[in-house]
Amino acid sequence: MALTGLDIYKLLPKTNCKKCGRPTCLAFAMQLAQKKANIDECPDISEQSKQTLGAASAPPIKLVTIGTGDRALKVGEENVLFRHDEKFYHPAGVGVSLSDSLPEGELDKKLEEIAKLRFQRVGTEIALDLVAVQNDSGNKDTFARVVQKVASHTNLLLILVSQSQEAMAQALSVNGLASKRPLIYGANSQNYEPMAKLAKEKNCPLGVYSSSLEEMADLTEKIKALGVNEMVLDYRGKGSKDALQGLTKIRRCALRKNFRPLGLPTITFLKDQDPYGEIVQAATYLCKYASIIVLNSYELWQVLPLLTARQNIYTDPQKPVQVQPKLYEVGQVTPDSPVLFTTNFSLTYYSVEGEVEASRIPSYILAVNTEGTSVLTAYSGDKLNEKVVAKAMNNATVAEKVKHKKLIIPGLVAVMSAKLKDETGWEILVGPKEASGLPSYLKTTWDRHGKKG
Ligand code: SF4
Repeated sequence: MALTGLDIYKLLPKTNCKKCGRPTCLAFAMQLAQKKANIDECPDISEQSKQTLGAASAPPIKLVTIGTGDRALKVGEENVLFRHDEKFYHPAGVGVSLSDSLPEGELDKKLEEIAKLRFQRVGTEIALDLVAVQNDSGNKDTFARVVQKVASHTNLLLILVSQSQEAMAQALSVNGLASKRPLIYGANSQNYEPMAKLAKEKNCPLGVYSSSLEEMADLTEKIKALGVNEMVLDYRGKGSKDALQGLTKIRRCALRKNFRPLGLPTITFLKDQDPYGEIVQAATYLCKYASIIVLNSYELWQVLPLLTARQNIYTDPQKPVQVQPKLYEVGQVTPDSPVLFTTNFSLTYYSVEGEVEASRIPSYILAVNTEGTSVLTAYSGDKLNEKVVAKAMNNATVAEKVKHKKLIIPGLVAVMSAKLKDETGWEILVGPKEASGLPSYLKTTWDRHGKKG
């Protein structure tokens, strides 16, 4: 459990010397409890108290890093069970499995397919993070060869899956692979000592698996004693219900009880033979509470919705996703190009942008600052009115970009037309209510009326 202000106060010198910039030790303690102060700001605190406070203030779920540099995947360090209480900080990693028993041609084909699993959504690229190479062959040379091939054909992070410490050591020695910090998977009650030794020697995170949470907690403590702190837990439940309960218990033990042996991120390997069942399970574990999900089958129709769900779950629910409010150019615009406005809510903006692009009519889109709210929400909250739009047009110097004075407005706020015309002096053309109507609107209505006189 997190320490209260009073618990912290008991560990401070209680001299009220003010060197920390606070009037009293109690005030400092209260700020520490709210994470608004740093323990180092008190120069007189004893080493012992510092250690006690440091251990107590460590995150309840350890942050684990797989890979290095900009592409590293960080999982763990979550503070809440429910997204609406705060937010989830580290998006779950999504990976796919590759067997080292695949015939060469099939392996090449799968690698090509995996490389294509990248998508643009609301202005962001969403993509896979990991490939798990499975040592199904049981042969260490085959495993090392396939790991090498996968590492050289993809820039995804690697999970090396083998129960053999020998096979793992050989794969890690391939072209300095260990320095890229793949996840070594996995340690169990039988092999944890050599696996932990290897993880420590190579400075790689270690996957730990068990079908018993008690055994898993015991294992992580033993592995920590061997010098490995970065672990990822795989609870192997009996069926999806048990797996979900296991993931939930791990998260609850970490957050509600501050139970350090299970205060680690989790990983789940999907094995369902039914591709529909598999993706439903994956989405379930994404919600509660897998930190990494490894798919067995990965058709485009499976991966896209899963990555979309991840993108939604890991946004801050208290902050709408926004684009920069400004004038955007879509295509090779000219002074005759149409000008449309919409709001700076990402989903709205990118829906409009996608449809304008599809129309193949180069256009200007003015994203008006409505604090990331959609057209109707902004209008009903008075964040979108004629003055706001006129100001946005002035700021973006729209009048200097085009030689006509015609503004296409969202059909949902047709009611603004008269006031907007008075405020701007522009002719107002009421566009479609839905973004999907824009291509035909631009090709017909704009073509007929807009671009002429
Ligand atoms: S510097 Fe330390 S001892 Fe002094 S008031 Fe702040 S917390 Fe208390």
